[in-house]
Amino acid sequence: MAKTWNAESLAMPSVARLSPYQPGRLSESGMIMLASNENPRGPSPAALEAAKQAATTLHRYPDGSASHLRALLAGQLEVAEDQLTFGNGSNDILDLIARVFLGPGRTAVFSEHAFAVYPIATQSAGGTAKVVAAKDYGHDLPAMAAATEDRAVNVVFVANPNNPTGHWLSQEAIENFLDAVPSRVIVVIDEAYFEYAESQADYASAMPLLARYPNLVITRSFSKFHGLAALRLGYAVSHPEVANLMNRVRHPFNVNAIAQAAAVASLQDDAYLKACVAENADQRERLATRFAALGSVTMPSAANFLCVHMGDATAANEWLLSHRIAVRPIANYGLPEWLRITIGTPEENEALLVALERWQ
Ligand code: PMP
Repeated sequence: MAKTWNAESLAMPSVARLSPYQPGRLSESGMIMLASNENPRGPSPAALEAAKQAATTLHRYPDGSASHLRALLAGQLEVAEDQLTFGNGSNDILDLIARVFLGPGRTAVFSEHAFAVYPIATQSAGGTAKVVAAKDYGHDLPAMAAATEDRAVNVVFVANPNNPTGHWLSQEAIENFLDAVPSRVIVVIDEAYFEYAESQADYASAMPLLARYPNLVITRSFSKFHGLAALRLGYAVSHPEVANLMNRVRHPFNVNAIAQAAAVASLQDDAYLKACVAENADQRERLATRFAALGSVTMPSAANFLCVHMGDATAANEWLLSHRIAVRPIANYGLPEWLRITIGTPEENEALLVALERWQ
């Protein structure tokens, strides 16, 4: 191949500056998987059954507008059907937002230690990322609101709870933020983990604020709480005009038929999902207490993972891997001394604690 030819020099500069997303370790049999914030109990049995049924018609295109799922979810959320947009994972939704509202000369604001897909979505649309310094590892909302005064800013991304730190924001904090941000800026509140946060007294979803702030977009995922990460399904709730714009750039049939069927069943299995959330809350508390006893600081978390201070996180990660336990090093999130550890089943968490007790 000719040496002088350089593909990167041909790429959009905003793309050439990107690093690819680094996924957690692939699941292996016998490995305890605490790396990717999945539901350790898997999906509801009803969702699995629905997925199997849907797999009998693989030669047919899926319903391109996800009408059953749309009707059910709109009813549960008490929003209009035309406020919903479905995506191939909520990453797809983040990408749709970027493709509609960002591009050359346009900027997206997000925090330090924020989800790694925000710069990828922003820059792949040709936009510029502006990172605002974190405050005590969490969002500095007043500083982020101040950053949106720049007229080049069109989008701001805020995850609540945040990945990888687990921090959460109260509805009042979000409301004050929405009041401070001009309405020409789309405010994305990424609620990929909201189901786990609802047990915190000072957490509330931004959903009730949609009626008052037309520039608010809430994104959610079926990958975490619903245990359907492999099927790739996420959604946005927004003003209908924003949904209409996202629908213009959406790839046809971006949500597969198995995902749609499984999601419909999962949304109706409240008892199973409530049990998963309750177990997560118990285990999160237990792990935080045991980490404290080991002398490891954890960040407060409203999600299904904990950010744990390890000092030499690389060595701790290798030690855990040698015990067949996969967790997530987060140096690429600017947190080289921390590991992000998904809350597992009680047995998985015990194995993790036993391994860490031996390490220290
Ligand atoms: N937002 C946040 C904050 C996340 O942590 C994740 C998953 N890591 C996503 C969005 C994307 O999830 P998915 O594409 O699987 O729905």
